Amino acid sequence: MKYDVVLKNARIPQGNETVVTHILVKDEKIAGFVTDLEGIEYGREIDAEGHLTLPGCFDSHTHFMDPGFTHRETFLTGSSSAAAGGLTMIMDMPCCSKPSVRGVEELEHKLNAIKDQAVIDYAMWGGVTGEDIRAGKKQIVKEQADYGVCAFKVYMTPSVPTYERVTDPEMLEAFRWVAETGVPVGIHAENFAMCDYFVKKFQKEGRTDGPAWAEARCVEAEQAAIELGINFAESTGARLHIVHMSAGVGARLIGAAKKRGLSVTSETCPHYLMLNYQDAMTEHRQFAKIAPPLRTKKDNEELWEGLRNGSVDFMATDHAPYEIATEKEGPGMDIWSAFPGIPGVETLVPIVVSEGYNKGRLSLSRLVEVLSTAPARQYGLYPKKGATMIGSDADFTIIDLEKEWTIDQKETYSMAKYNPLHGIKLKGKPVKTIVRGTLVYDDKEGIVVEPGFGQFVRRQRIEKLERTITY
Ligand SMILES: [Zn+2]
Repeated sequence: MKYDVVLKNARIPQGNETVVTHILVKDEKIAGFVTDLEGIEYGREIDAEGHLTLPGCFDSHTHFMDPGFTHRETFLTGSSSAAAGGLTMIMDMPCCSKPSVRGVEELEHKLNAIKDQAVIDYAMWGGVTGEDIRAGKKQIVKEQADYGVCAFKVYMTPSVPTYERVTDPEMLEAFRWVAETGVPVGIHAENFAMCDYFVKKFQKEGRTDGPAWAEARCVEAEQAAIELGINFAESTGARLHIVHMSAGVGARLIGAAKKRGLSVTSETCPHYLMLNYQDAMTEHRQFAKIAPPLRTKKDNEELWEGLRNGSVDFMATDHAPYEIATEKEGPGMDIWSAFPGIPGVETLVPIVVSEGYNKGRLSLSRLVEVLSTAPARQYGLYPKKGATMIGSDADFTIIDLEKEWTIDQKETYSMAKYNPLHGIKLKGKPVKTIVRGTLVYDDKEGIVVEPGFGQFVRRQRIEKLERTITY
C-alpha cells in the first residue's frame, strides 16, 4: 500500500513519556506508526524534527463573528489566527453572527457563509435564548442536536443584542430541553441582578477607572450563578458546563459537585490564569475588559490548581475580538460602554505549554488532556479528533518546547490588534499545524493552505467526560 503522507520524527506523548516515531497517513487519517521507513511507499513528507507532537489542539469556545460582524473578525482571519496558534479545530458560538444561530435554518446560513473561509476544521455550538423559551420552541433544540451541534449555550446576563439572556426559570426550562438531547449545556455564569446593581451603583458614583468593571461584576455574582447551575443540573439531569470560569471558587464548587457524582464540567481561559484585574485593568483598561472579568492573583493560582486536579476540565479561549476605533475606543466610550471581549486563539497553546507544562504546573498527560482530548470527548468528537490513534484524523500540533519569544499584539492573523497578554515572555511555540495530514501552518512560511480547506465536523456521538479529581 502507498501512503499519502508521512510525518517523520514525531515525538508523541505516551502517558507522561514520549517516543519518536514516523506516522503514516492515508485518506487524511492516521494509518500506522513505524520506526523505519525502509520499503514504505509514500507521497508527501513532513518533518517534525523530533519536536513534541500533540494530537491536534482544540479550542471549543470561539466567537468568529461571521456572518454579520465581519468588521471584527471573519472565519478566514479567525481560523488563520487559530492555526498559527497551533489549533487544528475550533467550535464556534451561536450568538455572534447575523442571524444568531437558534435553529437549523440559521445554522445552515452560517455554515454556508463560512464554508469557503476556514483553514482548520470546525464544529458548532447550538443556540437557545430566553425569547425561544418563552415562545415554547422546544423543537429548535432537538433539530440542532440532530443536525450535529455539540452543545448549547445560554447567557444569564445580557451579552449580544440578537441573543437574549435567560431568566432563572427560563434557564431551568432550557436545562430540561437540552437534557433530553444528551449534549452539554454551557452557561455564561454571572447573576444578572447582582452585576446590574453594582454596575449602576458604580456609574452613579462616577467611577470610570478600569478596575471598576471587575469590582462591579463581582465574584459573588459568578459564584451564585454556578451554584444555581449546579442545582438545575442535579434536578434536571442536564450536563452542565461552565464556560470561561474566572474564579477559584468556581473550581471548588465544580470539584465538589463532581465528587457528588454530578455531570458538571468547566473550562477556563489563558487570561484568567495569567492576569489579575488590578494590574491588567489599570494598564489596559477596556482592552482587558471581558465578562466575567479578570479576578485576582489568588484566583490565577487556584485555577491552575483546578486544571491540575481536574475540577477545571480543559482550556478554551472565549476569543471575541472587537473593532478598536468603534467598539473599544469609540467617541465618548468609557469602561462601561466599551464592548467586552479580547482575542485569544493564537496564544492559548503557547501559554499552556510555557506556563503550564514547561513550568511544571501540568504533567505531559494533563497537557494533552486539557488542550485536546478532554474537549474532544466532552463534545462527542473523540476519537476522530483529540487522539493520536489509528483511524483518527491526522491532526497534529508540533511544538518547539525551547523556543523563546514574546507575545506581540500587532503580530497576529486576527483582525484585533490588541491583547492584554501583550509583552509576556514565553518558552515554547507551535511551529507546525497539520490538519488531516495537510500542513496548514508553518512557523517560517505562515498559512500554506487555501481558504476553505477547513471542514465542518458534526458531533460523532454522545460521550461524558470521566470525573477525575486528583488530590
Ligand atoms: Zn464566549
